Amino acid sequence: PIYLDYNATCPLDERVLKAMLPYFSEHFGNPASRSHLFGWKAQEAIDIAREQVAELIHANPKEIVFTSGATESNNLALKGLFEHFSPEKNHIITLPTEHKAILDVCLHLEKLGAEITLLQPDSSGMISPEAVEKAIRPNTFLISIMYANNEIGTIQDIAKIGALAKKHNVLFHTDATQAVGKVSVDVREENIDLLSMSGHKLYGPKGIGVLYVNAKSDAKNLVAQMDGGRHQRGFRSGTLNVPLIVGLGKACEIAQFELKKVAKQTENLRNQLEQGILQHVAGTSINGHIEKRLPNVSNISFEGLDGERLLDSFKEIAVSSGSACTSASIEPSHVLKSIGLSDELAQASIRFSVGKYTTQSDIDFTIHYVKEIVESLKL
Ligand code: PMP
Repeated sequence: PIYLDYNATCPLDERVLKAMLPYFSEHFGNPASRSHLFGWKAQEAIDIAREQVAELIHANPKEIVFTSGATESNNLALKGLFEHFSPEKNHIITLPTEHKAILDVCLHLEKLGAEITLLQPDSSGMISPEAVEKAIRPNTFLISIMYANNEIGTIQDIAKIGALAKKHNVLFHTDATQAVGKVSVDVREENIDLLSMSGHKLYGPKGIGVLYVNAKSDAKNLVAQMDGGRHQRGFRSGTLNVPLIVGLGKACEIAQFELKKVAKQTENLRNQLEQGILQHVAGTSINGHIEKRLPNVSNISFEGLDGERLLDSFKEIAVSSGSACTSASIEPSHVLKSIGLSDELAQASIRFSVGKYTTQSDIDFTIHYVKEIVESLKL
């Protein structure tokens, strides 16, 4: 089948694989071994990767904490800050359209005494900075708002939210898992205190991610959730996974270099796909913000169709309904429901996400194929 599920995960860039391979074999050292060449070689590779990641998001290399992925980064940010600030400050502002790796952490913290405000976004998934500002209370320690939504692609007004968080002396975390590598992200310009990202969403390996922690703000007081040998300045103990870190670094370097080109290329293909489907298939509509949106994703509702049957029928294309992480259940997407879709329409919605290996013929085929399948289902 044709792969149109890049927001779920990306294939590894071959250059990334090539960079990683020696660190599985000849360069096997532990970067914490300070007394010999094997350790130094590994440490050197880690230092380079830290710089590559930092450069992509405009951070300082020492502000990069390697984790096992965005899920862990989100857990570390929210739980680590709650542990530092509570009980004096225990209020978090976030959105109902966040990934479960934020929402479920909030549910967990609620049981420990946190107060959570879920702000209602508009029908495009956008939250206004004014609404965020109004929700700030004396006991608020954190605003956590995703950079770009994984299902509908809506990009929030991150710079404005960052500025007002700073103004009110509240920390700002953003889950930028879907944004980094697709659009330019600048933690300094946008006043981001903490940022989560994941290697496999930018053609890097799975099981590796980053939490950026602003060294100049209170973010640096977050309490580690993994104790041990005090690796990574104590933020996350555990022997560094050198090959995966090298791969993530390389993926960031490539992403930085190719960002504009890939964004343009994917946007062009996405637009063709979207226009083709809207034109040829009756009862279709787009979910998410039309302009402020990731260049590679299109979430389309197919009115009057059974969502599960639709997804089952798409044998020749790999797409998803809702997020891959929850697609084991038949629950309609919490994101689509939060922006006002009925259960039925949410279930009859498909996420198409293209990437840098998607071709023109993939798109041409998909438009015709979707048209054919939908027509056969309507018979
Ligand atoms: N946040 C967002 C917005 C995501 O899209 C994902 C991946 N689906 C995650 C967090 C979790 O990333 P990982 O599975 O790499 O931990």
